[in-house]
Amino acid sequence: MTSTIASPVATQANPLAGAILDTLIHRIGKDAQAARPHDWLAATILTMRDDIIDRWMASTKAAHAAGAKRVYYLSLEFLIGRLLRDAIANLGRTPEVAAALASLDVDLAEIEEIEPDAALGNGGLGRLAACFMESLASLDLPAYGYGIRYVNGMFRQRIDDGWQVELPETWLTHGNPWEFERRESAYFIGFGGEVIGTEDGAVHWKPAEAVEAVAVDTPVVGWRGKRVNTLRLWTARAFDPIHLDAFNAGDYSRALAGQLKAETLVRVLYPADSNPAGQELRLRQEYFFSSASIQDIVRRHIQYFGDIRTLPDKAAIQLNDTHPAVSVAELMRLLMDHHDVGFDEAWKITQGTFGYTNHTLLPEALESWPLPLFERLLPRHMQLVYQINARLLREARKSGTDDRAIAAISLIDEGGERRVRMANLAFAGSHSVNGVAALHTDLMKQTVFADLHRQFPGRINNKTNGITPRRWLQECNPGLTALIREAIGPAFLDDTNRLADLLPFAEDAAYGERFAAVKRSNKVALAQHLRDVTGVRIDPDAMFDVQIKRIHEYKRQLLNIIETVALYDQIRRHPERDWTPRVKLFAGKAAGSYHNAKLIIKLANDVARRINADPSVGPLLKVAFVPNYNVSLAEKIIPAADLSEQISTAGMEASGTGNMKFALNGALTIGTLDGANVEIRDHVGADNIVIFGMTADEVAAKRAEGYVPRAVIEGSPELRQAVDAIRNGVFSPDDPARYAGLMDGLYDHDWFMVAADFDAYASAQREVDARWSDRAGWNGCVIRNVAQMGWFSSDRTISEYARDIWGVM
Ligand SMILES: *Cc1c(COP(=O)(O)O)cnc(C)c1O
Repeated sequence: MTSTIASPVATQANPLAGAILDTLIHRIGKDAQAARPHDWLAATILTMRDDIIDRWMASTKAAHAAGAKRVYYLSLEFLIGRLLRDAIANLGRTPEVAAALASLDVDLAEIEEIEPDAALGNGGLGRLAACFMESLASLDLPAYGYGIRYVNGMFRQRIDDGWQVELPETWLTHGNPWEFERRESAYFIGFGGEVIGTEDGAVHWKPAEAVEAVAVDTPVVGWRGKRVNTLRLWTARAFDPIHLDAFNAGDYSRALAGQLKAETLVRVLYPADSNPAGQELRLRQEYFFSSASIQDIVRRHIQYFGDIRTLPDKAAIQLNDTHPAVSVAELMRLLMDHHDVGFDEAWKITQGTFGYTNHTLLPEALESWPLPLFERLLPRHMQLVYQINARLLREARKSGTDDRAIAAISLIDEGGERRVRMANLAFAGSHSVNGVAALHTDLMKQTVFADLHRQFPGRINNKTNGITPRRWLQECNPGLTALIREAIGPAFLDDTNRLADLLPFAEDAAYGERFAAVKRSNKVALAQHLRDVTGVRIDPDAMFDVQIKRIHEYKRQLLNIIETVALYDQIRRHPERDWTPRVKLFAGKAAGSYHNAKLIIKLANDVARRINADPSVGPLLKVAFVPNYNVSLAEKIIPAADLSEQISTAGMEASGTGNMKFALNGALTIGTLDGANVEIRDHVGADNIVIFGMTADEVAAKRAEGYVPRAVIEGSPELRQAVDAIRNGVFSPDDPARYAGLMDGLYDHDWFMVAADFDAYASAQREVDARWSDRAGWNGCVIRNVAQMGWFSSDRTISEYARDIWGVM
């Protein structure tokens, strides 16, 4: 970006341009000639921030004056992505900012694109937290998000020779102009040590070590700038940054050990927990941010309202999954040890304050901590967990619960190595426990929480996830937003239910063509991006068939890849048929220690290499794996998608939110009856979605009756030929046995029932082909999807939480 000298005339005519230039000079210390794109970005953010700060303070003061109840959303992840575009769009100042920058010879789109993507999350759970923060502000609800300010966060993914390579994400390299460090908001966080009883019967925890948690605040601007809330992320500091005696003795590593330990705490999201040190670090992180947040909430409550006993009336704390579940014990500790509240009353206050959101039923994903580790790190909390458990089990006994159910309800898993069950702690300590889609909530009641549900009927409730339409329609798809607005006016910008006004346009062929033209221009932009980052050239007139999400066996990228191989085979065998040209796009990160997921990435890349180089399929089939899936990449890919792959094994995807983003942007869904797909079908209509495969009940029944995948594979010629081709090294001639284990797994157990759903999936794909060839029919169908997706706004979700759980609406 070259900058000419901004003329005084230009900046006089445009006060905002003058303000940005002034910021550049006086706060960045550069003039227009010396400024580099990152300097313009920082100057723009800092200038906009001044506007935001005024609103921020006004929001805080108004909430205080009204004595309003506040919502606190505790999450180990906030996958917020880039903030500039979102902030200025919500302030309604995008055209003004673009014009101001243009007068300075700076392109807004170009500087938006270099803002680092704040990758403080892993996937859907973290993105949900980000959508919720935006909706809370948009609905004018006073709220704080609490989490960790990871220096590196989620790893950056590079693909080397088809393999995933994990690199540190260095999103803070150029500083972060959005954030404010609040050195005055610092808390003591202890670990280890011992618990001492005092003479007056009180208990005193003497931690062996401690760090200081320091608040770093980021403003969250709501739609139309109505309200600005706070995302408060904790960073860690050593109390003694340097041991001078050690330093002077020349032992520099001991001198700086405390600081290193503090920095380690906030380094990365999800440290590998395949070793005990990694496990301990993870528990330390969870306690660190939970304790800091609860201390902050209690401090604010005392400061504003004086009496800790009114906490449930003035604070609603939502636990995003079990990562912050130790907060339950932490609040009990503060109430009992610091505020002299007795156990029974403390327990009532705690339950009145907390709500817990469950995000998974996968047994391996339900957090539990080895009891010796928990006890060593948090001895006082261990005592409280025992005390809570004793009361819980006593009451269960009283109501006639049998031994099996008692063992299931217990906060301590006694089978094998004793462990503390965080989901049970969160459940017991909350007045509300919610699932994130109707099916998921039903399954919670039937499976993992069946006994707790019987003990506490009515506590489990459903809150189907949503997405913010600002980021996931207006900002990522301005072309579609303009076209919708032209048809139905601007009301849908404030109420997504008004998208239903678009329904009649599904029958309008000319409008359908314009809809398709917007999609095509998004596809052209994505094709250009793909060529830049992967070298693969794709035809924007082909169907863009997209599966982007974390790589996990339950999400069944493997089903899609195997079907791609089968399709490749069919095209070569029957070149004379009228095949639909397709581009298969994949993106997603695999957990560093997840062997099969990483192998699936390699397989996608091996299959892509072979197919893309085969002239016999030419333009009919192309495959690409796009590296480093994150929010910004999702914002580019989703508006360009024709087909949305939501094909998890039924019963395993709690909700999904990717499914909602695609449908809202005019893609057809091919999916199983899993998670929120069920409700998407109910809203868009069964004719406007392609559902295939087993239901959750059928999956469970098949498992119970004894599933024999080998027989299924041997009974399906297409499947067998594809699996055997992969197995025998057709796609990995450099290492023919590379996929032998992965494919043998399908023959032997196939936990995720890829084989059982294969034929249904393949024929659903041919149905998609048939629909594609009816162009007007396709356009009408995707318009009906957009028109009927309004309910999946996170504004609706948050309104339900506010009314049913938090009591703030
Ligand atoms: C929406 C989103 C997800 C969740 O996708 P699912 O398909 O629901 O798993 C994950 N990562 C990013 C970056 C997202 O934007």
